[in-house]
Amino acid sequence: MPELPEVETTARLIEPGLLGRTIRGVQVDWLRSLGGMSRGKFEGAVVGAKVSRVWRRAKYVVIDLQRRGKPAGVLLVHLRMTGRLVVKGKWVEVPAYCRVGLQLDRGNLFFLDVRKFGRFSFHPESESALQHLGPEPLSDEFTQEVFFEALHGRRRAIKPLLLDQGFLAGLGNIYVDESLFRARIHPLELARHVSRVKAARLFEQIQTVLREAIVREGSSFDAFYRTPEGQPGSYQHLFQAYGRTGKPCTRCDRAIRRIVVGQRGTHFCPRCQVLSKKSR
Ligand SMILES: [Zn+2]
Repeated sequence: MPELPEVETTARLIEPGLLGRTIRGVQVDWLRSLGGMSRGKFEGAVVGAKVSRVWRRAKYVVIDLQRRGKPAGVLLVHLRMTGRLVVKGKWVEVPAYCRVGLQLDRGNLFFLDVRKFGRFSFHPESESALQHLGPEPLSDEFTQEVFFEALHGRRRAIKPLLLDQGFLAGLGNIYVDESLFRARIHPLELARHVSRVKAARLFEQIQTVLREAIVREGSSFDAFYRTPEGQPGSYQHLFQAYGRTGKPCTRCDRAIRRIVVGQRGTHFCPRCQVLSKKSR
């Protein structure tokens, strides 16, 4: 499933084709993609609006709209399992699995989604639609101190806590496993038992992993995630834990183990990532 680096890549690559464009028409082939809005309401909300900004918050691509220079709502796109956004020239070339299409004054934006779990929804403004989300891990407001204070006192295991979008935005299964491996913290360690030193290490590794993955345009290891230009990301070549069950740890040679934590496949090194006695 696309996480922060994949969604960031998508937002960056579609922005040049969308900025300043006016929406002329819509095509909806899968109503549920609109997240509960009727086709007619959606059409009324977006047709005639101009794209003023394309950005990312957590795992959402956010498309700001304007009318006569004033804010006129946002499109929030959640790719979920198999969603993709593609900007293309001609409407006659509507790609396969297109669920929602926007006809622009120049070009088109297509939302493709094989498994149909993704969303392409309109909201009158972004604040309330995004208010449930925790801090952005690469933002200035997210500091080592803020992170340690947030972990402190939490009874939950560190992995499910990091996956909780209300705690920290944008991380998913892959980048949590990679960050915990690099910080040498067991996925079941209780958050309140993560020391200040380990929390600082984890903070640093979360940011490093995310930055490296953005540079490499995310991770592609199945048929689904591709950039808007159709290219695979390349961060999967740097995986040290995720998907490496049975392969030797890059630090100590012990075989990487897979366990299930909160219904998610979880990869770690049993020698480098030891569960503290307090958390057992
Ligand atoms: Zn190891």
